[in-house]
Amino acid sequence: MTEAVMSSSTGKKTYEGRSITVTFEAARCRHAAECVRGLPEVFDTARRPWIRPDGAEAGRLAEVVRRCPSGALQYAWVDGVQETPGGPAPITRHAPGTNGGGTSEHLPGTGEKA
Ligand code: SF4
Repeated sequence: MTEAVMSSSTGKKTYEGRSITVTFEAARCRHAAECVRGLPEVFDTARRPWIRPDGAEAGRLAEVVRRCPSGALQYAWVDGVQETPGGPAPITRHAPGTNGGGTSEHLPGTGEKA
């Protein structure tokens, strides 16, 4: 397995796959659950690490990361081609039972910390 998790001083965690690296910044997550619904084979809050970049084809993973409405998820291609998704998008929906604003340190759809 080539996947690895690293944390930065900002709390951003890095999940390295073979061809794509995904970062997650829990403080920006708005629990819209686009990631978990969009690609459950990669994003699974019941697992550790909860993001497994090699769990799906990298192009599909990039597409789901681009749908993250808060910008909490970002990605970069391992071959050095940088792609930064657009800035945070307006928040339009939330998973049932989650709060509608503010920042959070928790994983999408759970009460667990990232
Ligand atoms: S805001 Fe959080 S739950 Fe929604 S897609 Fe981004 S990382 Fe996933």
